[in-house]
Amino acid sequence: GPDEVSAPPDPPVKVVVRIRPVNQADQVVKKVSSDTLSVEDRKFSFDSVIDSNAKQEDVFQLVGVPLVKNALAGYNASILSYGQTGSGKTYTMWGPPSAMVEDPSASSHQGIVPRIFQMLFTEIQKEQENSEGKQINFQCRCSFLEIYNEQIGDLLDPIQRNLEIKDDAKNGLYVENLTEEYVTSYEDVTQILIKGLSSRKVGATSLNSKSSRSHIVFTFIVESWCKGTSSKCFNSSKTSRITLVDLAGLDRNKVDDAGRQGVKEGKHVKKSLSQLGHLVNILAKAAQSGNFEDITYRGSCLTHLLQESLGGNSKLTVLCAISPENKNSGDTLRTLRFGQRVK
Ligand code: ADP
Ligand code: MG
Repeated sequence: GPDEVSAPPDPPVKVVVRIRPVNQADQVVKKVSSDTLSVEDRKFSFDSVIDSNAKQEDVFQLVGVPLVKNALAGYNASILSYGQTGSGKTYTMWGPPSAMVEDPSASSHQGIVPRIFQMLFTEIQKEQENSEGKQINFQCRCSFLEIYNEQIGDLLDPIQRNLEIKDDAKNGLYVENLTEEYVTSYEDVTQILIKGLSSRKVGATSLNSKSSRSHIVFTFIVESWCKGTSSKCFNSSKTSRITLVDLAGLDRNKVDDAGRQGVKEGKHVKKSLSQLGHLVNILAKAAQSGNFEDITYRGSCLTHLLQESLGGNSKLTVLCAISPENKNSGDTLRTLRFGQRVK
């Protein structure tokens, strides 16, 4: 009808900024409209700005719901959370592990990742029930890894600490010996998330220092295909990869921070984050031109691993988390510049 407005196509790369709650007296970053914030007198625009009073559910509606829809439509879909330590990356992505075992309606702190899988399995069940004469099968599997000092560790089997990325004609790109678990329910996924998140901390000299210096990557692959001879089944098989990444803190090297080891970690983090920004920027441009040839992903473990998740048939949301106090303005501006650079 005349009131219908066709929705603009979902862009390949979206940048969303979330401002974490702080004492308002110290807050120098302010949301000024749905897509713009100000840092004192400077304005920055993104796809969306999420204010400090927003709930986890609001972030899920904005970022998680489109991801599930894209994944079920056959796109690869990813979220990267970027920002300084303490800005809310981990809270936004996973939320407290205790909240994962509760229903999202009962736990307002539950992060967007558990909400995503709650919705995904609900949607899968609906598709199976409404399949009108064709039988759709789904198979889901996932893995959870950590990149620390350019080494890949298996969060589901933490003894495995130095895994290699392989790329061959038969299997494509994969991480050798990485644990893959088949899952059939939301409960299966949350158990794996809880296990992996608790391993992130094992073996750290200082809990906070390691968790702020490693990238963690949860990968979920959903394959669906139609069983039967109905013409509806023709060409109906789909594979999508959902990639959820909680990046290391972009914090400036702190000199008092764990001596030489800390400096080495800081260099790896800085290098991989800057290559990531560069890569995503190239991909955003490639998506406009349609030419994905000659893109190099191999600069770091992180970008190499994301090769299957970014580019061509994929949707990416970069979630920039910021702590809006004056004392954090340097890291906030770095985070916002990263967000602007990837578009
Ligand atoms: P990061 O992963 O970026 O280092 P965290 O997610 O661990 O930061 O957040 C630091 C602290 O702030 C945690 O205790 C977390 O629960 C809290 N926090 C962050 N964002 C929010 C928010 N939007 N609402 C409530 N608490 C938050
Ligand atoms: Mg964190």
